Amino acid sequence: MSESEIDVVMLSAGSDLPYFTGYEAMASERLTMLVVKQKGDPMLLVPQLEAPRVGPGPFEMVAWSDTDDPIGVVARTVGHPLRVAVGDHTWSAFLVALQGQLPGVEWGIASELTKKLRVKKDPEEIATLRTAAEGVDRVLSRARSEVRFAGRSERQVARDFALLIVEEGHDVASFTIIGSGPNGASPHHEPGLRVIREGDLVVCDFGGRVGGYFSDVTRTFSVGEPGKEEIEVHALVEEANRVGRSVVGPGVPCQEVDRWPRSVIASAGYGRFFIHRTGHGIGLEVHEHPYMVEGNNLLLQPGMAFSVEPGIYLPGRFGVRIEDIVVCTATGVDVLNHADRGLVIVA
Ligand code: ZN
Ligand code: ZN
Ligand code: ZN
Repeated sequence: MSESEIDVVMLSAGSDLPYFTGYEAMASERLTMLVVKQKGDPMLLVPQLEAPRVGPGPFEMVAWSDTDDPIGVVARTVGHPLRVAVGDHTWSAFLVALQGQLPGVEWGIASELTKKLRVKKDPEEIATLRTAAEGVDRVLSRARSEVRFAGRSERQVARDFALLIVEEGHDVASFTIIGSGPNGASPHHEPGLRVIREGDLVVCDFGGRVGGYFSDVTRTFSVGEPGKEEIEVHALVEEANRVGRSVVGPGVPCQEVDRWPRSVIASAGYGRFFIHRTGHGIGLEVHEHPYMVEGNNLLLQPGMAFSVEPGIYLPGRFGVRIEDIVVCTATGVDVLNHADRGLVIVA
C-alpha cells in the first residue's frame, strides 16, 4: 500500500476477502467490508447476523445491526484518505454511497494491488489446486465408461458430471459445459435439450471447488467413430495444447504462452476459429490474473497457476478444446491435469 501510495483498501464480497481473512462473505445488500488502513489494525465490518460465521483473524470485527448505517461507520473509520482502493466485486451501490460520504477521494481497484500477491501461489495453495485437478481427472476417466452420451440431452450429461465432480472430492460442482455437435462451437455453451448423436464431438469443460480453490479441465470426446476432419482438428488442438504447456517456464512473457499454440493452429489454416485467449490464472476464482493473452508481457514466475486451453470452433459444425491447469516452477512447468488428451471414443 505504501509503495502504491494507497491510504486505504476496502474489500467487500469477492475473493480478495477470503484470501486475506479466511472469511468468505455472502454477496448481499447488507454491507460486509474489510477496511485496511496503512497504519493500525484492519477492521472487518459484518452484518450482525453473519457474525457467527466469522472465525478469528488478523482484524477487529465490528458487527452492525439492521438499524445502523454501515457506510457511515466505514466513512468515520477511514477519516480523510487521499487514495482508496476498493475490491473489484464491491457492488456499485456501496461504492456510490461511499463516494457520497468521502468527497475528493481518488478511487482505484484493489486488484491492482492484490494481484501482485495472489498471482503467485504458495505451496499450500498449489497442493489444493493439485487435489482439485486430480479430482476432475478421475471424473474424466470415470465418464469414459460410466456416462452414457448417445441418445441423452446435454443437460442430462451435465447432471452426471456434476454428481461425479462431488463424488471425486470436490465441495461443490461449479460449472459443467457440455457442448455437443454444433453447440461445441460456442466455447461457453449452456447445456441444453439437444440430444447427443452418434458421430458428435462433445466438448466437456467442467470444474468445482475444493477448500475454496477451483478445478477447470476440458476434454473433447467423440461419440462413436469420429469423421476425418474431426480427427484432424482434434489432433491440431492436442498439438497446440502440448506446445502451450511446453513454453511455460520462469521469465517467459505470458503472451508467449498464447502465441505459440496460436501459431500451431494458424499455420494449419484454422487461426480465425481460435476465438479466445489461451489461458487464465486460477485460484480462489476460476478466472483471475495472470491472463495468457497477446499484449500481456508480464513475466511468468514460479508459483503462477493458470490454464492452457487452445480450441478450434467451426460455426454450425463442431468445436474442440483441450484444457489443462499448469503451474510455473523454478525450472519449467508442473502440469496438474493428466487425463488422456487423445480423441477418446465414448458411447
Ligand atoms: Zn472458459
Ligand atoms: Zn479455463
Ligand atoms: Zn474450462
